[in-house]
Amino acid sequence: MFKKEMSKAELTELTVAYLKEQGACEVGVVTKETLAGGPPSTDLEYVLTDAASALSFAVPLDEEKVSSFLSKKDHAGHQEDNIHTGFFITGLAVGLASYLDQIGYLSHGVDSNIVYRKDTPRGSRDFKPDISHRYLAVRSGVGWLGFSGNIITPSHGASVLLGSVVTTAELEPTNPLPEDKKYCDECRLCFAACTSHLMDKEEQSIVTMGGMEFSYQKRRSYHRCDLVCGGFTGLSERGKWSTWSPGRFPIPDDDHEFRGALVEATQAWLKRPAIEDGGFRHPQSPGGRKLNFTCGNCQLVCHPDKEERNRRFKLLSGSGVVIQHADGSIEAVKPDKARAHLDALDDEQRALYERI
Ligand code: SF4
Ligand code: SF4
Repeated sequence: MFKKEMSKAELTELTVAYLKEQGACEVGVVTKETLAGGPPSTDLEYVLTDAASALSFAVPLDEEKVSSFLSKKDHAGHQEDNIHTGFFITGLAVGLASYLDQIGYLSHGVDSNIVYRKDTPRGSRDFKPDISHRYLAVRSGVGWLGFSGNIITPSHGASVLLGSVVTTAELEPTNPLPEDKKYCDECRLCFAACTSHLMDKEEQSIVTMGGMEFSYQKRRSYHRCDLVCGGFTGLSERGKWSTWSPGRFPIPDDDHEFRGALVEATQAWLKRPAIEDGGFRHPQSPGGRKLNFTCGNCQLVCHPDKEERNRRFKLLSGSGVVIQHADGSIEAVKPDKARAHLDALDDEQRALYERI
C-alpha cells in the first residue's frame, strides 16, 4: 500500500495547516500518551484500531448572529449558522481523514455532534459520545475548560463548535493552554444565563489526562439541559426573560424530579404547532419531530472580553419572553404581554405552554 513517508513534524505541520486553511480558529494535537488515564470518551481506539493521535479543532460561530439570537431579534440566523457550522466541521474532519488515508495513514473523521455510543445499557439514549471533543480540545490546548464546562477559546470564547480527526499517524502533541492566561474569572454569567441550573453552585469535576488535571463546575442531571435546551420549556426564574422556547413548564430543583418534568413538557410540546424556521433532526427527538435551537446561552454569552460578555448577558436578560402564535411563529415580547397572550388562550391551547 502506498505510504508517503513523512516525519512526525512534517505530518503535524501539514495536518494543522489543512484545518487552519479551511477556517479552524484553533487547532491542537493529542496522542494516546497525552490522553492516558482519561475517561472512556478519550479512548481513540474506540473509533479507530491502532489510532495513535488525534487533531482537535474549533470553528467560530457568526458573532453577529449570536448577538441577534441572544437579544431575540432573530432566531433563524444563528440556528442555521449553528447547524451548518456543525455539518461543515463533520465534513472538514472527514476531508482530512480521507486525505490522510490516501497518503497511507488510516484515519477517522469524528462527527461534530449527535453521534452516541450504541454499546451502553440504553444505547444512544444514554447520550455517551464515541469521542469527547471537549476533552481532546482542553488537553491539546484548543481552549480551556470554563466554569460552565464548555471549551473557551482565546480567540472566540465559547462561541465555537469543535471537531476531531483520529489517525494512525504519529503526530507531535501540543500543550494545554497556560492556566495563568485562562480568561474565565468565574463571573458566573454562564450560570445566570442557564434557566435549567445545570451547573452545580459549589462542586467541581476534575478530569485527568496524561497526568494533567483539568477542572470545571460539576454538572447536575443532564436532563436539565434536555428539558431546556431541547426546547420544551425555558422561562427564567423570575419570569423576566426566556430562551427561544415558548414553554413555561416548571424546572424542578431536585434532579430526581426531572423524568416527570420531561414527560409533562414534551407531551405538551408534541401538540404545539411546529416552529417553521428551520430546525434539525435528532435520533432521540420525541415523536421523531424536528428540534429547534432555543438555548445554548451558557456558551453564547461567554467571550474573552469581559465587556462583551456583560453586553451579551444584558442582551439576553433584556430580550423578553417568547410566545408562539397559532401559525407556529415565535416572537419575544415584554413579560406582561406574554402573560396576557397566554391568559387569552382557551385552556386546551394554554396547556400546550404551561401547567394549568
Ligand atoms: S461566562 Fe464567566 S464564569 Fe462562565 S465560563 Fe465564561 S468567563 Fe467563566
Ligand atoms: S444549553 Fe442552555 S440549558 Fe443547557 S446548560 Fe447551557 S444554558 Fe443551560
